[in-house]
This record gives sequence, structure tokens and C-alpha cells, in this order.
Amino acid sequence: MIEKIRHYQDKCDFCGTCVAVCPHDAIELAEASLQILFNRCTLCAFCIQGCPTRALEMSDESAL
Ligand code: SF4
Ligand code: SF4
Repeated sequence: MIEKIRHYQDKCDFCGTCVAVCPHDAIELAEASLQILFNRCTLCAFCIQGCPTRALEMSDESAL
């Protein structure tokens, strides 16, 4: 199973906390759009822990 960070746009308030806590600059936030850069992400899960609205989850790729 290949795991990835999944982002739920409808739960996100674009606060930028996940961008601030990501140690690998793997999250890009533009006005109302958030992108995970999977080539940089190490699945450390700091962003999941830091998200106040639970808009991020660990997900296996087949579920995307
Ligand atoms: S921390 Fe959560 S709510 Fe804030 S921008 Fe990131 S995904 Fe969205
Ligand atoms: S899991 Fe870690 S490396 Fe990946 S986007 Fe979240 S904070 Fe960044």
C-alpha cells in the first residue's frame, strides 16, 4: 500500500498552519487551493497533527 497525505478541500479554511509546520516545504498554499508536493513529502504527519479542521489525512493511494 502506498500512503499519501490526502487533503479535503471542503474542510480546509486555508489557515496556513500545515505549511508552517511542514519541515520539507511540501505544501503549497495559494488563495483557495492547497497542494501537497508528494516528491518532497516524507509522511511525517506533522501537517495532520497541526491542522485545526482535520482537513488532512493519511490515505492509501488507491483511495484517491
Ligand atoms: S492546516 Fe488544515 S485548515 Fe489550515 S491550510 Fe492546512 S489543511 Fe487547511
Ligand atoms: S506529512 Fe510531513 S512532509 Fe508531508 S506534507 Fe505533511 S508535514 Fe510535510
